[in-house]
Amino acid sequence: MLRDPDENLGEVRNSAGPESPAYAGPQSLADRAAVVRPEGIDSEAATDWRHALSDAVRDPGELCELLGLPTDLAEPAAAADFPMLVPRGFVRRMRPGDPRDPLLLQVLPSSQELQEAGLPSDAVGDLQANPRPGLLHKYKGRALLVIGGACAVNCRYCFRRHFPYEESPRNDAAWQPALGYLRQDRSIREVILSGGDPLVNSDSRLERLFTALEDIEHLQTVRIHTRLPVVLPERITERLLQRLTTSRLSPIMVLHVNHANEIDASVAAATERVHRSGVMLLNQSVLMKGINDSVEALVELSNKLIAVNVIPYYLHQIDRVPGSSHFETPFNQGAQLIAEMRKQLPGYAVPRYVREEPGQPHKVVLA
Ligand SMILES: *Cc1c(COP(=O)(O)O)cnc(C)c1O
Ligand code: SF4
Repeated sequence: MLRDPDENLGEVRNSAGPESPAYAGPQSLADRAAVVRPEGIDSEAATDWRHALSDAVRDPGELCELLGLPTDLAEPAAAADFPMLVPRGFVRRMRPGDPRDPLLLQVLPSSQELQEAGLPSDAVGDLQANPRPGLLHKYKGRALLVIGGACAVNCRYCFRRHFPYEESPRNDAAWQPALGYLRQDRSIREVILSGGDPLVNSDSRLERLFTALEDIEHLQTVRIHTRLPVVLPERITERLLQRLTTSRLSPIMVLHVNHANEIDASVAAATERVHRSGVMLLNQSVLMKGINDSVEALVELSNKLIAVNVIPYYLHQIDRVPGSSHFETPFNQGAQLIAEMRKQLPGYAVPRYVREEPGQPHKVVLA
């Protein structure tokens, strides 16, 4: 995700494909039981989003057919390396018959990925900042918990596609070393739940994690980096909102939207509920050639985000990982785009254009 690091769940992300129908998180037996044994509205809501996830499109040929495109537009060998995964609600926001659709390009396995092997896969130095399993502590005051290795969508440009999620903890007991680290470092005020996508975890698992974090008295804020409200808005259950807004920790949710077309009425309804519940909503995007590398696209994205109560936070220079370089945009172009956005938008609607550099004490602001 951008450094989206959006986040997620237990099994390796690559197993979030066909063999893990509902989702790939480390799920306890109790969680599973809650899904199969409805106990009222909340478990029905959980069944809804899990069903939508298990029903996601995983066959690149099927995706092309749904859009009326030739099936050879997809490259099966690229999908073998990093499976395709895209929820049907997201597919419905793509323009039929358009092979350059900005949403399609984000998810369709392409032959260009295969020509881009050989770049370092730990482009952002995460593996060096990993003091306990599942914990990244790179920046002062903030630590990031990788709570799982799955997402509800597999983005072709993802900098975490080669992250060793299998080394992240899969059950509550395995989280103890990371929680112990947070407890002993009193300089940490904010915990960022990341992944994969943290919201691929069940509500009950997230509740247990929140309770554990609330017990660490120097923590003030919990931030959730997630693309789920965008690709699977059903995920915003009342139970989740309830837990976030009754916590003593201030909740912040950072979405990952790259193009205005990703925001339809279902996403607007989800962000409205999150906003009204009192959770701060921010967005991070990745600047990508052919997807959002124009003033018009970025201005429209910012306007639409503001219209649905989301503040643009970061625009990321894409990380150099294998398979992503056909999306790369030069820095000077990114800086010019930001300068143009400033002429057209209120200050709060212009994101900071940033890049992750290994060894730096914060993300480097490019414009
Ligand atoms: C991006 C990131 C953060 C958060 O950085 P902010 O500038 O506070 O948004 C924290 N930890 C890691 C490892 C990150 O990559
Ligand atoms: S695959 Fe997409 S949603 Fe998942 S972490 Fe990567 S960018 Fe975020």
